[in-house]
Amino acid sequence: MSSEFDLIARYFGRPVPPGWLGAGDDCALLSVAAGCQLAVSTDTLLEGRHFLARTRPEDLGHKALAVNISDLTAMGARPLACLLNLALPGVDHDWLAGFSQGFHAFAQRCGCPLIGGDTTRSESGVMITVTVLGEVPSGAALRRDGARPGDDVWISGELGAADVALRLLIGQLPADDGLLARTREALERPVPPWELGPALRGLAHAAIDISDGLLQDLGHILAASDCGAHLEYAALPVHAEVAGLPAELAQDAVLGGGDVYQLCFTAPESRRDTIAQLGRDMDVRLTRVGRTVAGSGLCVTDARGAAIAVRRAGFDHFQDEGGQH
Ligand code: ADP
Ligand code: MG
Repeated sequence: MSSEFDLIARYFGRPVPPGWLGAGDDCALLSVAAGCQLAVSTDTLLEGRHFLARTRPEDLGHKALAVNISDLTAMGARPLACLLNLALPGVDHDWLAGFSQGFHAFAQRCGCPLIGGDTTRSESGVMITVTVLGEVPSGAALRRDGARPGDDVWISGELGAADVALRLLIGQLPADDGLLARTREALERPVPPWELGPALRGLAHAAIDISDGLLQDLGHILAASDCGAHLEYAALPVHAEVAGLPAELAQDAVLGGGDVYQLCFTAPESRRDTIAQLGRDMDVRLTRVGRTVAGSGLCVTDARGAAIAVRRAGFDHFQDEGGQH
């Protein structure tokens, strides 16, 4: 019971929708609804860089898919199917059982069946690459370049907890088991609002998911859309545990902390009430945090209107060795 094929069938073979072909042949086959475009995204998680070797395999399976679903929702696309590429140092059945359980549970929850992948041996640590396919009506995707000056800036969910949990785990913050217990779910079991993105089509002008930190990710929208923005720190949806930390620490986590997997989007003021109602209907916290402006630059002000100096703008693989993305 340990050939590569048995292993794939046991842990990753799953039923697919009628008329499709899942794992087992040279290609998977799937159908895309008429009038839709295929939205495609892929993300790799590397042991030691994106996750700690001691991470629970269930959590890892969940997160490997969740970070990809986050990209689909940021595009306004509905999950359609996914592919899983695994490079493993060896066959560890406990690990595989946990990983596949976490993966499939979330795949089922958000309606994104696994239709294929690749499995290979790794000479070093575990490497997990997930590719997601989504569906979006042609021309209706929420791109980064659609923001206009005078838009409201909105955020879904809450900010800061994942960053605090990560910094506790890697020893950048003094050990605090209680704080870790109350923040680690945000880091290890992120749940992107996969129904929100599609519901924002036709309402939002531009959207992005917050994977590398609010300032950096909103910065991408602003650069692509050729505008600036003004945010009020006091308006930001700060996770309750983070709000209780010393101000500088909290600000760093809220403005620069990654791994959030919630949406930052812009929308015209005329859509304010509709969007607020959408958040209530979907039971997703939606917060209006500022405005886009003509020109460039991103300014965050405190309650007295003074600009907040940001020490850590977000994570960049090739510039900043201080984070994990
Ligand atoms: P090939 O040699 O044609 O690339 P593989 O031996 O790599 O085929 O894979 C056999 C089948 O198992 C394919 O349909 C592939 O999509 C599927 N598969 C392999 N690894 C995984 C995985 N980790 N998860 C899901 N399906 C997988
Ligand atoms: Mg292959």
